[in-house]
Amino acid sequence: MENKLQLYNTLSGQKELFKPIADGHVGMYVCGPTVYSDVHLGNCRTFISFDMIYRYLLHSGYKVRYVRNITDAGHLEASLAGKSKLDQLEPMEIVQKYTVGFHDIMKMFNNHPPTIEPTATGHIIEQIEITKNILDKGLAYESNGSVYFDVEKYNQQENYGELSGRKIEDLISGTRDLDGQDEKRSPLDFALWKKASPDHIMRWPSPWSSGFPGWHLECTAMSTKYLGETFDIHGGGMDLKFPHHECEVAQGKANNGKQPVNYWLHANMLTLNGQKMSKSTGNTILPMELFTGDNTIMDKAYHPMVVRFFMMQAHYRSILDFSSQALSAAEKGFIKLMSVLKDLDSMKTSSNSSEDVQAIINSFYTAMDDDFNTPILLANLFEAATYLNKVKAGSSTISKDDLEKLSKEMKAFVFDVLGLDMVEEAGSNQLDAAMDIILELRMKARADKDWGTSDLIRDKLTEAGIVVKDGAEGTSWSAN
Ligand code: AMP
Ligand code: ZN
Repeated sequence: MENKLQLYNTLSGQKELFKPIADGHVGMYVCGPTVYSDVHLGNCRTFISFDMIYRYLLHSGYKVRYVRNITDAGHLEASLAGKSKLDQLEPMEIVQKYTVGFHDIMKMFNNHPPTIEPTATGHIIEQIEITKNILDKGLAYESNGSVYFDVEKYNQQENYGELSGRKIEDLISGTRDLDGQDEKRSPLDFALWKKASPDHIMRWPSPWSSGFPGWHLECTAMSTKYLGETFDIHGGGMDLKFPHHECEVAQGKANNGKQPVNYWLHANMLTLNGQKMSKSTGNTILPMELFTGDNTIMDKAYHPMVVRFFMMQAHYRSILDFSSQALSAAEKGFIKLMSVLKDLDSMKTSSNSSEDVQAIINSFYTAMDDDFNTPILLANLFEAATYLNKVKAGSSTISKDDLEKLSKEMKAFVFDVLGLDMVEEAGSNQLDAAMDIILELRMKARADKDWGTSDLIRDKLTEAGIVVKDGAEGTSWSAN
């Protein structure tokens, strides 16, 4: 099939023409969530970015096998002494709770489910097999019941750092002695298998100890199993490039001598107050807090489709900062785009078109073929919207054929590719509409220097639990 898609490959550090291994098919693996807590909005951005990529691959005619794992094996510790079974922390109960929660949130954002969603705990045997194989190749060693990947030995024949661009000398000089590192030959070595301490709940038998696999290994095991020793696309957030993905490259090469992935794609971070949104620092907002308005950051609640639109306004490789103003602007844009889509079916047609409709449609494809440039796609969709609004106003014309074509493509790009959905309630509820009218009347009163009326409106609204704020950016309001 003809293919114009260019994508930025972290491995080569440049945009490349995408050539899948098997014509017409794409194998894509994306690192999934750790299900020991709720996903925050930053996590969601990465999953939404790859959903958009998956959707555009489908729209381009590819048959895609999209694998996104669930990290459910990990470091839960608890004292098991003197408690009944039902009193004890049961990891699989926690895993179940947060997996269900994760799926609910993904659905609200209108993300397609992956075609395979494997769990780390369901692939312990595969992880043990790879560990044995890397040991056999002499690129790992056993130490006190744990197995470590020998980074320096690997680096004698390969290049540890080829993905992230890090240099092994700098990595060595940058490491200090940390706790527990005495088991390792070098601080750079990472665990393929860890012996479990007595308090560690999740454990499996292995040739080396009762223990659990190292985190990097699960993605190598599951991607190889479902997509092959070399596959097309591996994705994840930028913060996983090193060490997680670097270790995956090393494990893949050590395991079967092949470059495991042809195209590495990394999505950039969502920030809040200029800092990476991250669970560990507490600098987060949860999706549900945003949808219900139950948070201290935003002035009101936002619909998931408005949040998705907000994310699509940025390129997936750019940092995106989250704020009340940005979301409120996104809401206006979203409503504007949706209102044009609603008008499409009732648009008047003429014998010819005053603009080149095929060129407009081509611009949608050009934007997305350029490394999934959704902000340019949206700009082009808004240009089409401006043209259609002129048609509606009678100052431009469109033919019946062109309207049908444009309509079909605009809907395809907005709904199928960007994954947006028409929602009546998104910011366009009756309270919003009524508030727009009231604030306009108040502005008119202020313009007329009728301070009595303007203050009366504000005070009455305050009594009704609606706080009006006059700021540099204009007037905003929030309801308790
Ligand atoms: P985790 O559950 O921590 O492994 O994270 C799941 C995914 O979310 C990974 O691909 C991370 O790279 C990504 N991620 C974590 N924090 C952010 C953030 N602030 N913005 C965007 N993606 C993030
Ligand atoms: Zn991973």
